Amino acid sequence: MPHVITQSCCSDGSCVYACPVNCIHPSPDEPGFATAEMLFVDPDACVDCGACVSACPVGAIAPVTKLDESQRVFVELNAAFYPKREGKLPPTSKLAPVLEAPVVHRRPGGPLTVAIVGSGPAAMYAADELLTQDGVRVNVFERLPTPYGLVRAGVAPDHQATKRVTALFDRITRKRGFGFFLNVEVGTHVSHAELTAHHHAVLYAVGAPNDRRLDVEGMGRPGSGTATELVAWINGHPDFARLPVDLSGERVVVIGNGNVALDVARILTTDPEDLARTDVSDRALAALRQSSVREVVIAARRGPSASAFTLPELIGLTATHDVVLSADDHELVRQDLASESDPLTRNKLEVLSTLADAATPVARPRIRLAYQLTPLRLRGAQRVEGVDFAVTGTDEVRRLGAGLVLTSIGYRGKPIRDLPFDDDAAVVPNRGGRVLGAPGAYVAGWIKRGPTGFIGTNKSCAAETVRNLVGDYNAGLLADPSATPGHLDGLIRARQPDVVDAAGWQAIDAAELVRGGEDRPRDKFTEISDMLAAAATVPTPSVGRRLLAGLRR
Ligand SMILES: Cc1cc2nc3c(=O)[nH]c(=O)nc-3n(C[C@H](O)[C@H](O)[C@H](O)COP(=O)(O)OP(=O)(O)OC[C@H]3O[C@@H](n4cnc5c(N)ncnc54)[C@H](O)[C@@H]3O)c2cc1C
Ligand code: SF4
Ligand code: SF4
Repeated sequence: MPHVITQSCCSDGSCVYACPVNCIHPSPDEPGFATAEMLFVDPDACVDCGACVSACPVGAIAPVTKLDESQRVFVELNAAFYPKREGKLPPTSKLAPVLEAPVVHRRPGGPLTVAIVGSGPAAMYAADELLTQDGVRVNVFERLPTPYGLVRAGVAPDHQATKRVTALFDRITRKRGFGFFLNVEVGTHVSHAELTAHHHAVLYAVGAPNDRRLDVEGMGRPGSGTATELVAWINGHPDFARLPVDLSGERVVVIGNGNVALDVARILTTDPEDLARTDVSDRALAALRQSSVREVVIAARRGPSASAFTLPELIGLTATHDVVLSADDHELVRQDLASESDPLTRNKLEVLSTLADAATPVARPRIRLAYQLTPLRLRGAQRVEGVDFAVTGTDEVRRLGAGLVLTSIGYRGKPIRDLPFDDDAAVVPNRGGRVLGAPGAYVAGWIKRGPTGFIGTNKSCAAETVRNLVGDYNAGLLADPSATPGHLDGLIRARQPDVVDAAGWQAIDAAELVRGGEDRPRDKFTEISDMLAAAATVPTPSVGRRLLAGLRR
């Protein structure tokens, strides 16, 4: 029985390199990888060795025999990716070229030293790639006292398997040469010029934190917001922990239908007692326990075949929640099925065609997918009472009452001081991660390529940047730091006395795990003061020991 990849895949490609017979595709060197919704195991070629299972950081691969009922659909999905053929394939030699780790040419002036700004997936994969070689030093600067970006603050709390990638990131922080400067905002506590003075290169992996805004009347009124803010509130991000979220209305409308819209709808309609076993923020859990929400409508401007959510996420959602379509939307699905030729889109349409009719009564809160709706305005004088939509391409107006309206129409990077910015694409202009017109500056992740892809997509993205950075270092294009390495620690502490280092993060992490008790993976701190108090349980090393540690690193 072969192995299969299930929906919690985040496309980092580790399994591809572990597989001895090259039966997992598309691999990072194949054209379909960048746009793939997940990777697939070829059931005819798989020799069941299990190597991919241990390589996968999020536990997404299992032998067919170990799947639960809701995962069995992935057996067919994996097989359908491969053309039909006669008989079993013999094992092949490994075909996928392993991306070469860059070889750093040592210089007499000291080791290659890189500042990485941000600690999300792109930053951590870049650090990992750089630290594959002895002697390289990496200092990671993160504005929050807790690391890992959207893995901690974006990935939904009921997707704990996906969050398990943080165990890999924790291992990277323990590598020789790694340094954490948490609770330090680059641009506020330390400047680009100061980082450049202390490092050969500065690599920005700051993500794309801004939401794309919907420009219609009524946005901004109480009762309107963005899905990202809600996800950050649910996840206990300190900037959003006290967001006033009013769940007293029976209906929530989410405008936009990507995976984040699905995350929000799922959380708002999940039994809070199930969420109580996750790392959802305590404040959000209390609000969800009082919630009156009975229906979340996910409204899309275009038709079903243009659905932005991925097939694995749709399958995961329909396995656990009541998801319905109106009779009109069922008709749109039928029309799209009649003309759609792309196999992946057809798969989505087929799942949609099996959804219950919205007229069927359901006992628990439900999710309704709605299509061909263009938002015109949010209704309500003091606070939002609903949305008026135009049926896309017509003058017909559809009115939906709602107590909360959230937009989920994408993200935008924001400018970084001292670096160029492409306002249209909302990224830092770069070639292969080299910032154009700013020698010594590099980018990786969402600020480099825009807000697309999964956690693992940032691995190949970061690897490309690191290859170019090391290439520039080896070619003598990166000047040696002008400041003494040991002075960096003193500079940062002078500017931000509450800097948290790797030991401080370990103390926060340990305290959250203890607070979680036996029933929860962790109970997160949501106030910065509580995080700092937990970090302070680690005795501060003396100036001499800090200098020594900095030099050893
Ligand atoms: C709501 C949501 C849910 C998602 N769920 C999933 C999922 O389930 N599975 C999946 O595979 N992918 C998911 N993704 C996509 C995934 O999270 C991204 O691909 C990934 O996080 C992008 O990585 P990044 O490192 O570029 O940015 P981020 O993860 O955003 O990390 C950027 C980091 O930089 C820090 N930073 C910013 N500015 C500064 C500064 N000036 N100084 C210091 N630090 C700074 C930020 O605090 C942050 O920690 C989700 C995305 C969102 C928005
Ligand atoms: S079980 Fe072995 S052969 Fe099968 S996909 Fe995994 S690594 Fe490849
Ligand atoms: S998460 Fe990574 S290692 Fe796991 S199945 Fe997906 S691509 Fe493979």
